Amino acid sequence: MRYHYGMRKVFLYVLCVTLIFGGVYWYRFAESKCRVPVLYDIGDIDPRFNISKDEVRDALSTAESLWEDATGKNLFTYTPGTPFKVNFVYDERQDVTDESHEAQTVLDSKQNISEEIYTKYARMQEEYEDLKASYEARVARYEENLAAYNAEVSEWNSKGGAPEDAYRDLASRERALESESKELNERAQKLNDFTEALNELSFKGNQVVEDYNKDVAWYNTMFATEREFTQGEYHGDAISIYQFDDMTELKKVLAHELGHALSLDHVEGAASIMHDVMEGAFSGFALSSFDIAEYNRVCGE
Ligand SMILES: [Zn+2]
Repeated sequence: MRYHYGMRKVFLYVLCVTLIFGGVYWYRFAESKCRVPVLYDIGDIDPRFNISKDEVRDALSTAESLWEDATGKNLFTYTPGTPFKVNFVYDERQDVTDESHEAQTVLDSKQNISEEIYTKYARMQEEYEDLKASYEARVARYEENLAAYNAEVSEWNSKGGAPEDAYRDLASRERALESESKELNERAQKLNDFTEALNELSFKGNQVVEDYNKDVAWYNTMFATEREFTQGEYHGDAISIYQFDDMTELKKVLAHELGHALSLDHVEGAASIMHDVMEGAFSGFALSSFDIAEYNRVCGE
């Protein structure tokens, strides 16, 4: 029996394309300075995002702090009623993300089950090996005793019979051998039962693993292909959020779009918050030197 654990590869490369509208562009060149603080409000949150307004506020406040702590300035202010909104727009992008999360949960539980079975199998197999080893040692001893007994019997036979005390000794050894033989047969039966249980468990384990591997293949076809799409957009009068994998990623997307709200452009460095392609899982939540340089270029004194 062999256990195969399917490898799950998940990489989503997501592209954050931001449209900088003519008006904003012109404004930047006219003023060549960012206008701060940017006042913003939380607009519509599609309920399918399953995120509360408090959670959004919290994520926004973390995204704000990233810029404000680095620059020591109040750059953004949450202002209920102000026209500039942060909206959560639900479509196929987040829908696919949510589906993949559900599929991952199912895969994880199947993997747990197959690991449980495998652990049980390994434990039983160890027990089986011990039982088998002690059984085989006992069989070897039995066969030695039997051979010695038979040799002695034929020796006495060749001499025409055994004297009374030797005869009694042989009879007692014969009874012991018979009883040991019976005992060994019972043990052999138990070992067979044990083998059957092991095989059953192995079969069950293989079925679970086969099922799991099929699911992994399906998952990889459905979700592990490289996709590029827009997670968020800055429109000049609003920010739209379309997709995020988890709260950490949401904070990064928000920090990126807030950067655009300051009129910042995309910068180099894959780990930069203002990089155009976000590789969520691979970089931390911090401004890079490129981000800071871009901030200073646009908003510096
Ligand atoms: Zn962008």
